[in-house]
Amino acid sequence: MDKNVRICIVGGGPAGLSAGMYLEKKGYENYTILERQDRVGGKCWSPHYNGRRYEMGAIMGVPSYYAVEDVEKFCGITHDGPKLNRNYKNSQGKVIEPFEPKKNILKIPRLLKMKKQIKRFGELLETKYKGYDVNGHRGVAEGRYDGFAVTPGREPVSGVNPNLKDLSLPFGEFCRKNGVELVQDVWIGPYTSFGYGYFDEIPAGYVLKYLDFQTTMNFVKVNLWTWKNGTQYIWEQLNDHLKNPARLNSTIEKVERRDGKVYVTVNGEVEEYDKIIVTAPLYIPNKRADGQIGMVDYFDTRDDERELFSKIDYERYDVLAVETKPEDHPEISYYVFDNMVKERLGHLMVYYRRWKDTKDQVITTYALRKHKDTEEVPYDTCKQMVLDDLKTMHNPASNVINEWSVYYFPHVFSEDYAAGWYDKVEAMQGKYDTYYAGEVMSFGDMDETAEYSRELVERFF
Ligand SMILES: Cc1cc2nc3c(=O)[nH]c(=O)nc-3n(C[C@H](O)[C@H](O)[C@H](O)COP(=O)(O)OP(=O)(O)OC[C@H]3O[C@@H](n4cnc5c(N)ncnc54)[C@H](O)[C@@H]3O)c2cc1C
Repeated sequence: MDKNVRICIVGGGPAGLSAGMYLEKKGYENYTILERQDRVGGKCWSPHYNGRRYEMGAIMGVPSYYAVEDVEKFCGITHDGPKLNRNYKNSQGKVIEPFEPKKNILKIPRLLKMKKQIKRFGELLETKYKGYDVNGHRGVAEGRYDGFAVTPGREPVSGVNPNLKDLSLPFGEFCRKNGVELVQDVWIGPYTSFGYGYFDEIPAGYVLKYLDFQTTMNFVKVNLWTWKNGTQYIWEQLNDHLKNPARLNSTIEKVERRDGKVYVTVNGEVEEYDKIIVTAPLYIPNKRADGQIGMVDYFDTRDDERELFSKIDYERYDVLAVETKPEDHPEISYYVFDNMVKERLGHLMVYYRRWKDTKDQVITTYALRKHKDTEEVPYDTCKQMVLDDLKTMHNPASNVINEWSVYYFPHVFSEDYAAGWYDKVEAMQGKYDTYYAGEVMSFGDMDETAEYSRELVERFF
């Protein structure tokens, strides 16, 4: 492609900013990033409190975050944040240690079985499901893989593996099919509590895209990255190092694609581009209270775009930042496994203490309030449930200082995944001078989105 091509990038989150970085690295400097908010980072949002930054959005990474590492190198920064640590409570607020055999004598047979199944699962993923961990979902529904290896070199890999079709099954069913149902006891911790839905509804393809074997083992060993100034800082730094930083407060009113050109009406002015990369939400069924809409509502959407994107659902994931009295401050972060089942929708699943050395920092709480088969728990009801749960946990909140109901983890369900949703969207890449990136195209974490942008640039530019 001509290196002077004029590229518009919608969204200044990890996907949009890293698209800018990878384009620039390849010699494309004629790009413009349009961001609707007054800050970059998207779901990496790290506000200040008492002289430090806390996390309302993304918190952590793992050593296999190679795209995030690219960004760190590009900017000369590193993951220098507080070490993470956690413990577990039951729904009555009692501290438990579910994986400690000495504290769970009656559960020893189950724990031993689980350990065996984890080992077996690792082997199955390497062999029967070879290719399961490449970025994106290209070919999976047809029993193929096509992407880049999850290694520092990220060499291109592709092949045929009919077993990969199983990845469209909900993760619970996938585990049962392979006789390793107990691995869910471990996978659920960093999955459901992080807002990515329940194992009876979410295709295994997503669960394993994020929690590939290596990443899950890093979670088990608490071998995790954080950033002192928050994850937002990574993307602020990237923005500062780009030749064309994002244009903030850009309201896109209209996008028209005709005669090989893309006309974008932004803040009342029409701008002309050759190509457009969308990293913002593709589809949101109803306008959200925060004003976010999907691209189908401001683009001259074609029938195939509307048809496919209307299959996308997302999670209702709520975050509260609360103050506690110093004597009520938790000594560590806690996971509440009992609340990670759909029967306990709306309850507190995890609460996070970021700074160990001080009690004048906020605690953040996380709850999911939607399951595919269940009625949504209203926002205020969920908020009250979480505040009540904090009391039960013996860490009552004295004050809520920030709250966020996030447009979270866009995805499709098993039926559409199996029917080749991803291959149909991939076949549309570039068709209307438009490229689709961001969370839905691979998975909703910082690295998978940045990595997808890398591949998109690699494949099409
Ligand atoms: C509570 C929480 C915890 C998380 N924890 C982790 C974690 O520990 N580790 C991890 O890796 N990931 C985590 N994530 C997920 C991670 O933050 C996201 O997957 C990642 O930010 C996605 O990047 P993105 O650029 O695709 O989308 P986003 O981050 O959502 O960015 C999209 C950007 O597009 C902008 N935008 C939207 N519409 C428009 C429009 N019409 N015009 C212009 N701009 C628009 C938005 O304002 C936003 O800045 C977490 C997220 C949340 C909310």
